[in-house]
Amino acid sequence: MSASISFDKERNILKIGNQPVVLHCHHYNMFLQQSISDLIGDEKARTLQISAAHRVISRLYESIRVNYSDPEQILTLGSETFKKLGYGIIDFSKVSASGGKILLPMSHYAFNWFEKFGPAKKGVCLFAMGFALATMNKAFGTSFDSTDIRETQCRAMNPEEYEYCIIEVGKNGN
Ligand SMILES: [Zn+2]
Repeated sequence: MSASISFDKERNILKIGNQPVVLHCHHYNMFLQQSISDLIGDEKARTLQISAAHRVISRLYESIRVNYSDPEQILTLGSETFKKLGYGIIDFSKVSASGGKILLPMSHYAFNWFEKFGPAKKGVCLFAMGFALATMNKAFGTSFDSTDIRETQCRAMNPEEYEYCIIEVGKNGN
């Protein structure tokens, strides 16, 4: 089970399903995230980036016409897509329709943030949070607004203490 990936050599376009995608290195991604925070402030930047990732991944699922009825198939597709896009390893095995814990044994943002900037004050896996939320919304038929998501442990804050990142998802207000 995976989304089809194609590369048009003549037009230099990479697609997943029908959705064109752009790949960036960790330098670009870390500086982009930090630049947005510097520009509009950390809290607004966090909300914006989680929301943007959610929108992009939701559109990706629509473009590849994900219509599995079994949530497990969608969660597996999410894990495989996350890995194929180079964002690391995301584990949805501890979630249900009511939420749960998502583990990131390997996170592109957490690993590279620490290597580039040193210890982060807060979790930095904003793209992973939006990605996870879009995947769970797709799998369980929930909505962005009704779901609360936060990163409760991020390797970028202290890799000696935190081997991996933990994202917790629940219903809004719980
Ligand atoms: Zn993290």
